[in-house]
Amino acid sequence: MQLNNKVALVTGAASGIGKRIAEVFAQNGAAVAIADLNLDGANAAAREINDAGGKAIGVKMDVTDEADVDAGVAQAIKALGKVDILVSNAGIQIVKPIEEFSLAEWKKMLAIHLDGAFLTTRACLKDMYARGEGGVVIYMGSVHSHEASKLKAPYCAAKHGLLGLARVLAKEGGPKKVRANVICPGFVRTPLVDKQIPEQAKTFGISEEDVIKNIMLKETVDAEFTTVDDVANLALFLAGFESNALTGQSITVSHGWHMQ
Ligand code: NAD
Repeated sequence: MQLNNKVALVTGAASGIGKRIAEVFAQNGAAVAIADLNLDGANAAAREINDAGGKAIGVKMDVTDEADVDAGVAQAIKALGKVDILVSNAGIQIVKPIEEFSLAEWKKMLAIHLDGAFLTTRACLKDMYARGEGGVVIYMGSVHSHEASKLKAPYCAAKHGLLGLARVLAKEGGPKKVRANVICPGFVRTPLVDKQIPEQAKTFGISEEDVIKNIMLKETVDAEFTTVDDVANLALFLAGFESNALTGQSITVSHGWHMQ
């Protein structure tokens, strides 16, 4: 129970990686606010945790909306008392060549991945600084925080940007015992990835099997997907790491696709 008496807020936790992080945090003693655009999904995920003996609430939050983020974080603090751990995880993917992206699509991608990270950080930091007990911020980056892939210009730009935000927060937050790190997963089979497989097959004119074998898993050491458990276990390690010795870093969990 590494996270006993801790409170975590996880964005995008109605599905995929965020959902598993919320479950693993709850299994390790944290009370968890499941913040998501999809309130029904967030409430369902919270119910599962509560039914299993943990403590969780669902919070409606569009991470791109300043008022929504501030209200959602305030709701979590009112219900659970504080926020010790923020996992900024909400994200989407749009794949197409640069010349086919509309400005609206570009802005939507940057808004969810970067504005969302900034707004949730700012809202939670106020509580962390005011209480003076420090805190942990984990950003969900990607191998695409370090590597490029065709069709993913705004995603790569945004995920690279998270490294800068985390490093500035590590410096500003260090004296106040607030740590910031970035998790960089390889491909994980979630709805976000399942949607891309047929899209990439169509764009490149190859089979879905070839997208998996020759694009997604080509550079891994064992042709295996990273799992939601792999990512959640790394998040648990970072959330439970008690000193500033580990801050301002990005850690890749990708079956060796990217080696730093
Ligand atoms: P997912 O589609 O399973 O879950 C994403 C969640 O984010 C959904 O519940 C969705 O409702 C929520 N969401 C979307 N827009 C939102 C918004 N504006 N405000 C609040 N919530 C919003 O996706 P996932 O694969 O679990 O992805 C989670 C994160 O992990 C993303 O940041 C993604 O970029 C990152 N990531 C995923 C992979 C992968 O292979 N799946 C790899 C590297 C990084």
